[in-house]
Amino acid sequence: MNKNITQQITAPTDYLDLTNPEQSKILEFQQEILELIVLGNNYKEICEKICLLIERLLDNAVASVMLLDKGKQCMNVFAAPSIPAECIARLNGLRPGPEAGSCGNAVFRQEAVFIESTLDDPRWQSIREIAIDFNILSCWSMPVRSKGGECIGSFALSSFEHRLPSVFHRKLLQIGSFIIGIALEQQKMNEQLYLSSKVFENSPEAIMIADKNRVIISINKALNIITGFSAEEVIGKPTSIVTSIRHSTKFFQKIWLSVKQSGHWQGEVWNRHKYGREYPAWLTITSVPNNNGSSCYYLINFSNITDKKKSDEIIWRQANHDSLTGLPNRNMFYDRLSHDIKNVSRAGTLLAVLFIDLDRFKEINDSFGHSVGDALLIEAAKRLNGCVRETDTVARLGGDEFTIILNGLTDQNCAERIIQLILLELTKPFYLNAKLAYVTASIGVTFFPADASSVEILMKNADQAMYAAKNNGRNCCSYFTSSMRKATEIRSRIAYELRHALREQHLFLMYQPIVDLTTGYIHKAEALIRWQHPERGTIYPIEFISIAEESNLITEIGDWVFKQAVNQVAAWQANYNTNFQISINKSPKQFISKMSDWVNHLREKKLDGQSIIVEITENLLLDIHELVVKQLLSFRDAGVQVAIDDFGTGYSSLSYLKKFDIDYLKIDQSFISNLDSKSNDRILCEAVITMAHRLGMKVVAEGVETDSQKQLLIAMGCDYGQGYFFSKPLSVENFEALLQQTP
Ligand code: C2E
Ligand code: MG
Ligand code: MG
Repeated sequence: MNKNITQQITAPTDYLDLTNPEQSKILEFQQEILELIVLGNNYKEICEKICLLIERLLDNAVASVMLLDKGKQCMNVFAAPSIPAECIARLNGLRPGPEAGSCGNAVFRQEAVFIESTLDDPRWQSIREIAIDFNILSCWSMPVRSKGGECIGSFALSSFEHRLPSVFHRKLLQIGSFIIGIALEQQKMNEQLYLSSKVFENSPEAIMIADKNRVIISINKALNIITGFSAEEVIGKPTSIVTSIRHSTKFFQKIWLSVKQSGHWQGEVWNRHKYGREYPAWLTITSVPNNNGSSCYYLINFSNITDKKKSDEIIWRQANHDSLTGLPNRNMFYDRLSHDIKNVSRAGTLLAVLFIDLDRFKEINDSFGHSVGDALLIEAAKRLNGCVRETDTVARLGGDEFTIILNGLTDQNCAERIIQLILLELTKPFYLNAKLAYVTASIGVTFFPADASSVEILMKNADQAMYAAKNNGRNCCSYFTSSMRKATEIRSRIAYELRHALREQHLFLMYQPIVDLTTGYIHKAEALIRWQHPERGTIYPIEFISIAEESNLITEIGDWVFKQAVNQVAAWQANYNTNFQISINKSPKQFISKMSDWVNHLREKKLDGQSIIVEITENLLLDIHELVVKQLLSFRDAGVQVAIDDFGTGYSSLSYLKKFDIDYLKIDQSFISNLDSKSNDRILCEAVITMAHRLGMKVVAEGVETDSQKQLLIAMGCDYGQGYFFSKPLSVENFEALLQQTP
């Protein structure tokens, strides 16, 4: 209790000034309001009754309790049974301050304020009109304090006559305000208690409270629902009644030790339902010291997390498995592989990584449709799983690519038997949706630790070996070898050096004339890249273009080639022929990596689109990508011409040629070199030329090396020729010299 207030009430001097009847009235007043508090639970009503009690002891006066709204810093009437509603309405919202009447001042100054004349006292300045309108002539107010001494409102007596309080009245006000403080405090606590009990009762989590011996003393409804135990069945029992026997005593000893040390523990446990069923639960234990800190209670709450675990598992499955075949996906395969590598190195055994690619799977998809393709993959996955042991892993990386880890092998030969079995199983016919399909597989194999020790390199090796199997004619297996490793090393060295070459401007272009076969004019040239290596001399594109494609350098190189050729064509158009065109090779990778800004560049250089011919390969048009279509259309719109390079070596489709408005077909040199002999190539060339002309395309013959080839081509009606017979690729100076000689 606040010391000051205690003194205010019990100071003996106060009582000395009271007459005996006054003293007994005070005791009676005190008695009556204490009874109110003990018996009543509506605190507004209690305050109103206190007001009425005090009014009985002072004629011609009305009592009021105002409370301070701390948030808004204003006061509102809480209880004033004898004050008219209009007056209350005007008092509400009173801001404590030096002119805010007796109550506003009592709270502002935090002391008793007795005002004899409200009509002329400056402390009533701001609310004098209320005094006038309701005939309040004097007013005495006492601050009401909380248990901690904080001022929470006022208790006041307002009189309809000018007067000051006697000792008796002051005493009444003191007792009234003090008890009102206690009553309001009690109300607040009750509200909090009520709230806490509601939270406890209605929490969706099971809650139990245990004493220091871990004996249950209280539980909530949720605990009853989750565990099946009623309050009667568990109160007085040890908390372990709800836990599963699958945990060891040691496990719980650890938990309780942690609670003892840090006051807290939380984690996943298994609990047991009343009828024996076990379920996973998320458990929290908190120790709560009692009031004097001498002992403690335990607050134990938990929820059943079965559903959450199920959905976690679904998410985990989705993240780690291939949805079509149910096999582990790339993610999980990598995890397993790194895990198996550790196990195998500990055991001193070895493991094999198999990279399996189905041969010509695309054709099955194309001819039977995707649903048959999917069914085949599912069946293939089953067959692969049937070839290995439980401890091995079969995964699908995507598309028709599978990988396998063969674990714990004693020597490399052990893998061979399984590989042969896989090849055999996959060649067996597949009966899918009443259709019969056949596939074979190409398998690449690498071993840990012999070939590599990291997951990434093992995967690369197996992939490379698989490509070797493809090159060996498919339906076979190829082991990773040191020469493959050497080839990889060389390729990565070239990729590294190429990056450097691009920066250091070691790349340059040669130009090979494309000759008009009817006139002999040279109005076109193909730009062909070269690399001036500081040690190795000139390097040809065959050695580095595929590496540039693999390492994504091709886009940067391609853009450089384009800009270089654009500058060249501008010069030759200005100096030799305004219709001069340069042909540029563009690899499929360049189309897919980004939308090129070549058209914009031409526009900036104020060059006609026709200045450039872009050479693409037939295969680009096969698996048509959105970006490829967009770029081809943008070329067409800008007048940039498109040629199909190496025509006849890829997967030719006339419909594609028509669809994309192709301007030139460049017949591959392999057909031209055989023209002289009486081969089919001659008929083929003729057919290509006729067909191209029908479709509105011109034809360029590549690799023309002899005069007779040239004559034959002219006879067939071929439009252009390119080859060593006319000229090898030339430097800019040599090309210009050639242009000087020819029209
Ligand atoms: P391509 O586009 O088919 O170019 C023709 C290739 O045939 C050139 O080889 C050329 O030198 C060669 N050639 C020309 N006439 C004859 C001949 O009469 N007989 C023989 N045997 N060969 C002849 P090169 O310059 O080594 O280029 C090879 C390939 O590299 C090109 O084939 C092209 O696909 C690619 N390439 C060249 N430059 C670039 C480039 O800047 N970007 C891209 N992406 N690829 C390029
Ligand atoms: Mg070309
Ligand atoms: Mg070519």
